[in-house]
Amino acid sequence: MTDDKVKHADEAASDHREDESLTRRDFIKKGAVVGAGAAAIGGTIAAASVAKADASIDDIVWDYEVDVVVVGAGCAGLPAAIRARDLGATVLLVDQNFDVGGKMLHSGSWTSLGGGDAVQKRDLAGASDAEGMVTVEPLVEPAALEDNPELLFKDMTDWSIVDTGGVPRYRYNERDLHRAWANNTVGTRQFLLDNYVRYARINGTHYGGGVSRARAASAVLRLGDKTDMRAGTVTPEDAGKKGEFSSQFAPRVMSDSTKRAGEGIVHNGAAMARPLEFSAREKGVHFMLNRHLDELIREEQFSGQILGISASYTPRFDPNTGERLESLWGEGNIDERRESINIRARKAVVLASGGYAGNPQMRSMFYPAMREPTFVTSAWALLGPDRAEDGSAMKAGLAVGANLSGMQQNYNHSVTYHIKTRIATRDAYTDMYPGHPTFPFRGSAGVDIGTKGFEHVIAVNQVGKRFFNEIDLPKRPRHPRWPGGAKEGVPRDWSEHVPTDWRNSRPEWIAELAQGAYTRHDGVDAALAINEGSSEPDFLSGPLWVIFDDAAVERGGWNINYPFTSPDNGQFFSASSIEALAQEIMKNPYSRVPMSHLADTVAAWNGFVDKAYDDDFERQGEKMHKIEGPTFYAASLMIIWHDTYGGLRINGKTQVVDMDGKVIPRLYAGGEASGGGGQHGLGRGVVHGYIAGKEAAMESSS
Ligand SMILES: Cc1cc2nc3c(=O)[nH]c(=O)nc-3n(C[C@H](O)[C@H](O)[C@H](O)COP(=O)(O)OP(=O)(O)OC[C@H]3O[C@@H](n4cnc5c(N)ncnc54)[C@H](O)[C@@H]3O)c2cc1C
Repeated sequence: MTDDKVKHADEAASDHREDESLTRRDFIKKGAVVGAGAAAIGGTIAAASVAKADASIDDIVWDYEVDVVVVGAGCAGLPAAIRARDLGATVLLVDQNFDVGGKMLHSGSWTSLGGGDAVQKRDLAGASDAEGMVTVEPLVEPAALEDNPELLFKDMTDWSIVDTGGVPRYRYNERDLHRAWANNTVGTRQFLLDNYVRYARINGTHYGGGVSRARAASAVLRLGDKTDMRAGTVTPEDAGKKGEFSSQFAPRVMSDSTKRAGEGIVHNGAAMARPLEFSAREKGVHFMLNRHLDELIREEQFSGQILGISASYTPRFDPNTGERLESLWGEGNIDERRESINIRARKAVVLASGGYAGNPQMRSMFYPAMREPTFVTSAWALLGPDRAEDGSAMKAGLAVGANLSGMQQNYNHSVTYHIKTRIATRDAYTDMYPGHPTFPFRGSAGVDIGTKGFEHVIAVNQVGKRFFNEIDLPKRPRHPRWPGGAKEGVPRDWSEHVPTDWRNSRPEWIAELAQGAYTRHDGVDAALAINEGSSEPDFLSGPLWVIFDDAAVERGGWNINYPFTSPDNGQFFSASSIEALAQEIMKNPYSRVPMSHLADTVAAWNGFVDKAYDDDFERQGEKMHKIEGPTFYAASLMIIWHDTYGGLRINGKTQVVDMDGKVIPRLYAGGEASGGGGQHGLGRGVVHGYIAGKEAAMESSS
């Protein structure tokens, strides 16, 4: 970049709303050559840090150069980019997907922050928001909203809490990280409000948000004639219609928020991701979509500063038309199609590219049986089959010496991996309908049979054998959170709860769990078990199926037509006999062995129904129904690895820390790319992004 252009960049950065075209054109220089930037940096690049063995740093061709490179335009990445931009940095957001928002766009938007944040205060005062969107009365009592960072920090590191699966969740959280997290929730909530995100009433607290106070609220928009982030409105077409259509604006149909906010208000992740995206674009953040971080470029493999990234072109094409998928909005997009490029970060790289839930090999760091590739992560179609949550930040970080933290926090986590009640789609965590460009990747929305629906089916493994009591398959442990009480895995309710009191985990409470509050069932583990179809070396379980007939469809009131099921995505089959159904199932690409036991299993089951007792798994009474046809159905049943706990170790400034406990200079991470917080979702990611954006912008330019 010439001095002249640097000057333009700095000026533009100081008032980035002034002239968008100037800032976009000038502060990222395309095709920067070897020399100026690289020569000033010096040093060598080790073989493993970039695939350029023995290459000198002086040899690197920097294709783009910017102050801060943020990898991942989702929950942690968008706030990081906006904050760095607010503080005057030039920012490039790189995302492997064709559109912005990541899992946050798919999410429910229920954001747990607290510590005395602006939404808690608003509800405490019984007030509405400035635009008058929130018209319902506060949903929780005032005392449950009186919060402060000290209490939040205490809650987040409380050793004494035990969930209803018997696991202490808060105990293992990184102290430094959560101290900083608790100190920054108030600032982050205000930052979100300042960047067009609106919140409904506080109505609880998320898994990992502590049990002492109510801290979570959903992001909302108002239904209107125009989709307009400044005005906070969304059209009914963009909000979508359940069972019928989604839109590119909101891959999941937006939910009715009448009870949480007021009439005509809707919520979900689109009400959070799209306003943040809009704000980032408005402020002059640049986006390079269809671009996958492959490697970090560091001065030496295990020492020196992070200089930038190398990234490859990852476009997605409509499976039906072959057309390249494009982002909803284009302001600030850089359409770069070269196969591989290097991007220099003068100040810092922020890794905000999510976790490794979609990478079966990396999942096995925690649970070897989850190498089974049929099971995918949530938001699989949205983020890209085979690339969604591929652990790329962790891989890139490890290659330059980063440490990991909190990997064990996945243990028995009922959110992390569990059996879904939505059948007949591989992307079973949530529905999505035609209208979103990624619908063809999943092919069906799936049929949510709910926990009650399991009485109408039997569940079988890849050889056609039952493996668990179906009624218990979707049951999961509860996570300790506000408002407490045995149902939430807390011996007392919130007003009596004393943080860090040993009585929270006293043997009497554990005994109480044993008397009914304990809700862990090992159905997932039974489903992943080695069976007759498993073979060396991995002994994978194979896919899972629920088997039922027309009578079940009738009793359950299930709609098994398109778009809930698809005739050709390999997730739903029908036949006039069980034998023929077993044959059909072989069309699923992950069916590796004949379903040789299915006919015997169904016959045995029908015999159990006759005597109203299930010899194998002790189902009994009215919750047993024969499977007799005339049409027999098989629908895929999924274990979804939803999100990851454990990832790159970061400190309170979100700096990535290496295996010797030293900070890797100019490298930051947040959200699911990072570890050390047994804390769910959005609250975790946005605060990390808020911190990382500031810290990255404050780095000196290299
Ligand atoms: C259906 C659903 C409902 C949810 N509901 C809630 C909720 O109500 N409340 C809550 O707290 N949490 C919820 N979550 C979880 C929450 O959305 C995630 O935990 C959060 O979005 C994670 O933030 P992140 O920034 O780590 O990842 P993301 O938001 O997923 O962003 C990561 C981004 O990085 C990109 N990326 C990945 N790899 C690369 C690469 N190598 N190079 C470039 N870009 C890359 C991805 O394409 C993506 O855009 C939900 C999630 C889902 C799927």
